[in-house]
Amino acid sequence: MGRVLAIDIGGTKLAAALVDADGSAARSATRPTPRTEVMAALAGLIGEVVGDGPAPLAVGIGCAGPINVADGTVSPVNMPSWRGFPLRDEVRELTGAPAVLAGDAQCFALGEHWLGSGRGSSALLGIVVSTGIGGGLVIDGAPLLGPTGNAGHVGHMTIDPYGELCECGGRGCVERYASGPNLARWALANGWKAPDGEPADARTLAAGAARGEPVPVAAFERGARALAGMIASTAAAVEVTRVVIGGGVSAAGRVLFEPLDRALDEVAGLAFVRAVEVQPTTLGVRAALAGAARLAWDHHATTR
Ligand SMILES: [Zn+2]
Repeated sequence: MGRVLAIDIGGTKLAAALVDADGSAARSATRPTPRTEVMAALAGLIGEVVGDGPAPLAVGIGCAGPINVADGTVSPVNMPSWRGFPLRDEVRELTGAPAVLAGDAQCFALGEHWLGSGRGSSALLGIVVSTGIGGGLVIDGAPLLGPTGNAGHVGHMTIDPYGELCECGGRGCVERYASGPNLARWALANGWKAPDGEPADARTLAAGAARGEPVPVAAFERGARALAGMIASTAAAVEVTRVVIGGGVSAAGRVLFEPLDRALDEVAGLAFVRAVEVQPTTLGVRAALAGAARLAWDHHATTR
């Protein structure tokens, strides 16, 4: 029996694994994402994982967005050397195997649905709260990618049409309230100072909130309320039954999840929206790679 190759491409790290049909990784490796010559680094990584073994049955690629699944190209915001880069064809040529592409947050959702907190859900929303906020939907077991592969960009849902401008060009996006840097930015603007020698980031802020410091607590409550608005809106639109939250900010734990539960209770009205279950990731950083493997297995099943 064969294996598929899963690839996860982010602004800071490249990861690859050979994955069995049950989701176990036979071989895996990571390396830092270089500023240039990313494809050469990726080729080296693939060589390390595949070795001189048989070609994988299929390759699933999760990549930071924006992407275009219609033509297989990617233009990751944090990787300026790739603009309209034909990633899918390059990987296909390199491996000699059919390749399929999706967004990294879509792969996160798919991985959690397959092997993590999303198992058994008929309509799952996966959210990655980190430097930015990404998301992916898995409906009836299949990823909802959209015509160009950009469905699930929940970080740029407007939760306040009169709110601040977002880096995406939109206004009042949830990312502007709840991403790691924006949580810290709001806290700093409201009098918070990181303890001596510690960075003024979301992780330090979460430690302050865990100690009950008022401004960090308020920052997480504000971010949680923004996330709750986005979750309730998404649930109302596509009848999401479960939400899995991952990414660095989700490691904040109860200082995020407790106010999120309270905020959802306050903003959600309709019974099916109120019924949404919110859970932290169980796979953590492995979720996107698992989702890329699932993508490859599904592609293999439909093409053989
Ligand atoms: Zn935005």
